[in-house]
Amino acid sequence: MNRAALLFQLQNIEAEIGEKEGQIAKLNQLLDSNEALNALKTKVQSLKARCEEDRITIRDLELSLKSLEEKLKEAKNKLYGGHVRNPKELMSLEKEVQAMEGTRSRMEERLLELMEQLEKESEELKALESELAEKEKAWQQEKALAFKEKEELEKALERLNREREALLATIPAEDLNVYRQLRSRKGPRVVVQLKGLICQGCGITTPTIIAQEARSGDKLVLCPSCGRILLTM
Ligand SMILES: [Zn+2]
Repeated sequence: MNRAALLFQLQNIEAEIGEKEGQIAKLNQLLDSNEALNALKTKVQSLKARCEEDRITIRDLELSLKSLEEKLKEAKNKLYGGHVRNPKELMSLEKEVQAMEGTRSRMEERLLELMEQLEKESEELKALESELAEKEKAWQQEKALAFKEKEELEKALERLNREREALLATIPAEDLNVYRQLRSRKGPRVVVQLKGLICQGCGITTPTIIAQEARSGDKLVLCPSCGRILLTM
């Protein structure tokens, strides 16, 4: 076989290998983490914690309110019970009762506020949790698909690597050297077609003698302009 054609085959196989490897790397990245899902999980967790905090605050407030009610009841009994007759003492008792009633109404207001807040947060939490469950499910499916795709790519990659090994065994070492050196300088496309007299690597017309040499195929012929290996079909 034409020596340039062997290198052209190698170039194609290596391009395909690079493509598959890139696809596998992308899938690995995808499988590695799901940032949107993680963000949603964090949101659910912090909302859950906030609801729990509110529940504790409400319980504490309810207990304080209960003990205030008892104190208020006691003070009122004293005030209206008829045992205290001293006007000064009565006045101070009245003030005490008024102050406690003020505190009670503020506490009740705060309690109401907190309960409304908790209700809102609980609703939000419920919605987020069902969104999370749905997204988890979708992610599991996506992951399964990605795994399958990755497996197929890995199989294809194995096949390509075997093909490449077999091909390498048929390529003269000196040709391989030229190919490798050119690739390190010019990138992955170093074997190019010569159409008529025109190099498809640089678009410049080559001398007829060069084209003839390339056509004979028994040695590697480089484009005098761009230095790439010329392939004639
Ligand atoms: Zn060229």
